[in-house]
This record gives sequence, structure tokens and C-alpha cells, in this order.
Amino acid sequence: MKDIAERLKAIRERIAQAALRAGRSPKEIKLLAASKTVSVEKIRQAAAAGVQIFGENYVQEAREKIKQLKDLGLTWHLIGHLQKNKAKLAVELFDLIETVDSLSLAEELNRRARARGKIMPILVEVNIGGEKSKAGVAPQDLLKFIGEIAPLANLRVCDLMTIPPFREDPEEVRPYFRQLRELAEELKRAAIPGVEIKDLSMGMSHDFEVAIEEGATIVRLGTAIFGPRPPRT
Ligand SMILES: *Cc1c(COP(=O)(O)O)cnc(C)c1O
Repeated sequence: MKDIAERLKAIRERIAQAALRAGRSPKEIKLLAASKTVSVEKIRQAAAAGVQIFGENYVQEAREKIKQLKDLGLTWHLIGHLQKNKAKLAVELFDLIETVDSLSLAEELNRRARARGKIMPILVEVNIGGEKSKAGVAPQDLLKFIGEIAPLANLRVCDLMTIPPFREDPEEVRPYFRQLRELAEELKRAAIPGVEIKDLSMGMSHDFEVAIEEGATIVRLGTAIFGPRPPRT
């Protein structure tokens, strides 16, 4: 079995190739290791191989890991759905929350960030495929939604994140990635004060190259780095 460092080497090469195909600099693309259910040991191995950003889905699980890995100075993103009652803890733990999708959640995060004297960077999650099973703001509601959260002074809106529909063939996901980039461009034209057009978080293990070709700046990879995920305990 390949180890994490070997897998990462191959992934970085694929990221670079995808970027170059799209006429982009590989430096524009940040690799996030999606580490839900992955042990602290394996996270250490990925960090030793140069990964700086880790994404966790569950606040409690993240709390334990972040505590145990404090010495490494890693950057942590929340990439799972956030419940309002965990907003306080999320603001304490994470450097970026990628999954903001309701005004009430945004307001709660803003309130908790203000109480902590912190400016909380966030991404807005978009339900690009309109799937009932997925969280996220509907594309047609996005501009209005961002207009509503932009004035929240303790949030810094840093652009968009999506989990598109799963398709065996990554080429079939391309239109969704393209649509997210177009939404980001629309947002840029709208020039809403307090909104930065900075990070497009899209692309997972099986479709990240297509996502990069379509403009991703953060790709979130789990199984490609760590192998099959152990079940959640
Ligand atoms: C688990 C997860 C990933 C990584 O998925 P892989 O297919 O293992 O790369 C990316 N994004 C989110 C939001 C996830 O929950």
C-alpha cells in the first residue's frame, strides 16, 4: 500500500498539471486534506509531508484533534454542515468556515465572533445541483443572501464552496464547477462591500482536476490522500 507522502507527491503533480492545462499557476491552488474520521497519526503524516490545511466535518471530533495537534500550527477549515448550537465552538476552533448557508447561522456566527473579538472568514455553501439531500444556498438566491450577510461586521465573506452532485465521470461534473465560477464572477461584478472574491472551494478526490480547470482555488481531498475512510465511531 502506498503511504501518505507518496500519494501526496502524485496528487501535487496532478494538481500542477491541471493548473497548467488551464493556464493557471499551480501556486493558486490550495490543497485541503479532508480528515474526517482519520486518525491524528495520519494527520501528522500528512502534515509532515507538507499539508498545511485540514478540513473537518464534525465540530466535536475537530476539537479533540485540534487540541492534540496544536504543536503543528495547522490551519483548520470546517467543511461539514454546522448547527447553530455549535457556532460558538466553531468560531473558537476554525480558521475558516466553508459551509455558511443560512442567515440565522451567519448572524449567530457573527455574534459569537464579535464576543470573541475575532473576524471570522467564511465561505458561502452553494447547492449547485439543487439536490434535496444537500445543504447550501440555491444559486438563484445567492446574490440576495450575500447582500444580507455582507453587513455582518465580524464575518469576512471570502467567496463560495460547493459539493456538486456525484457523477462517476468527472467530466459530467464540469458544468457544475463552471456554474459556481460564473456565480463568483457575478458576485465580483456586484462588488458588494465587505465581500472578497478570493476562494472557490470545489473538487474532491475523484474530480479535483476538472474543478481546477474550472477555477477552484481550494480542493478538498480525503480518500486520495488517506485511502478509504474508517467508519465514524
Ligand atoms: C469528505 C469530504 C471531502 C473529501 O472527500 P473525498 O471524496 O474523500 O476526497 C470533501 N469535501 C467535503 C465537504 C467532505 O465532507
